[in-house]
Amino acid sequence: MLEFDVVVIGSGPGGYVAAIRAAQLGFKTAIIEKYAVMGGTCLNVGCIPSKALLDSSEHYYNAIHHFEEHGIIGGKPKVDLEKMIARKAGVVEKMNGGISFLMKKNKVTVFHGLGSFESANVVKVSQTDGKEELLSAKHIIVATGSKPTNLPFIPVDKTRIITSTEALKLKEIPKHLIVIGAGVIGAELGSVYARLGSKVSFVEYADGMIPTMDRTMGKELQKSIAKLGADFYFSHQVTGAENKGKEVVVKAKNSAGEEVEIKGDYCLVCIGRKPYTEGLNLGAAGLQTDERGRIAVDEHTLQTLVPGIYAIGDLIRGAMLAHKAEEEGVFVAEVIAGQKPHINYNLIPGVVYTWPEVASVGKTEQELKAAGIAYKDGSFPFKALGRAVASMDVDGLVKVLADAKTDEILGVHIIGARAADMIAEAVVAMEFRASAEDVARMSHAHPTYTEAMKEACLAATSKRAIHA
Ligand code: FAD
Repeated sequence: MLEFDVVVIGSGPGGYVAAIRAAQLGFKTAIIEKYAVMGGTCLNVGCIPSKALLDSSEHYYNAIHHFEEHGIIGGKPKVDLEKMIARKAGVVEKMNGGISFLMKKNKVTVFHGLGSFESANVVKVSQTDGKEELLSAKHIIVATGSKPTNLPFIPVDKTRIITSTEALKLKEIPKHLIVIGAGVIGAELGSVYARLGSKVSFVEYADGMIPTMDRTMGKELQKSIAKLGADFYFSHQVTGAENKGKEVVVKAKNSAGEEVEIKGDYCLVCIGRKPYTEGLNLGAAGLQTDERGRIAVDEHTLQTLVPGIYAIGDLIRGAMLAHKAEEEGVFVAEVIAGQKPHINYNLIPGVVYTWPEVASVGKTEQELKAAGIAYKDGSFPFKALGRAVASMDVDGLVKVLADAKTDEILGVHIIGARAADMIAEAVVAMEFRASAEDVARMSHAHPTYTEAMKEACLAATSKRAIHA
């Protein structure tokens, strides 16, 4: 039996960050990862590879549609999909190496194999070479993440009816990609193939894109994605999908109850993700999952019902986001060290990496309405920004929601170029409980996209945007 202070199961952004922070705090730490590479969903089949393909497809799209207008004349570029996918794989591999380096640097012992509970403080590692190792620890952090979810009547065969994982390594550009689910992942991967020339059809149960975000964002994003030639079947409930060889047929019912049939050559199922606990043998530790497959945790400590066992990331309640998992990784290590850390879940930003990007933090307009909170709003369009006109990225806007009485910023919703980076200003402002007027009075460099944030704050505080 090998003894550690802290054992982490799972090396995604939750697990590996927890391991580093635990080691920084002086704990003898081990991490267990069932795959040969570290980094979890985010690095291997999530955030990083999807962004690599989003960037490549955006370069291609710009080369075809915008270079000439910029005065750049050349032959018509072609897509070498194999090379594009290989570059993506190279990016992932580089980052895999980075995590291994960080484990060594922080003296975290890495075990590759399936981790399963033997008891509340012993974890067995079943290594790929058949060897088994028993690790005991006073503190165990479960960070086993999530897997794509599916509907029982959609036979995901991973060839024509695929999940996000297969969409990141297709061998050909689909002629017609049917995306079931127009949430964050569906919108991102759908836009990749739409830019590469696929016809893309989104079939979505809700009445708009990215339905959990502020409704203005969904409407604006739909306008941008429609420009790529995509079409939308909103308020449609999928009833089946069939792989007919080279053709996929998706059936859905519209709000009038009529059946619609959509034919394509690939169908990407993006209807969400579910917590992953297979093989963990939770019962041996006295743990169980709830009706949604999650492990319940104490709000103040992220400790499970069993003392000494903690759970973080996609496995527990809250947004399934890498940076949320990372915050929880740090949090839990600090709790174990006896510190009193804090996470402001209201200020975890959400981002969609389409182009234009969408980024959001705090309350949406529909949430404020539902909670009966009186608010003021101010918006500023990108098309009125010098920087956006110069680069031809004029689609989008910043929308600021502020408390009607106190002017405190309650929510910021951005769609536009570089929204993913711009949202950091809103997070900082809101963490310090800034008013819209506070931000409006701060100097923002000219010409930048961030001027839209200042102008939207001017509009929110007292309808006094300068350039609109
Ligand atoms: P995971 O990253 O899922 O890691 C869990 C790890 O545990 C895995 O490596 C798994 O192999 C391992 N494991 C499981 N069971 C065992 C076991 N019994 N023993 C040993 N190891 C085990 N989030 C963002 O914030 N930004 C994005 O841009 C973004 N893009 C995404 C794009 C796609 C296509 C997808 C699918 C997801 C995206 N996400 C994004 C979500 C993000 O990937 C997850 O929220 C994040 O990875 C969750 O981290 P985690 O540490 O909880 O779990």
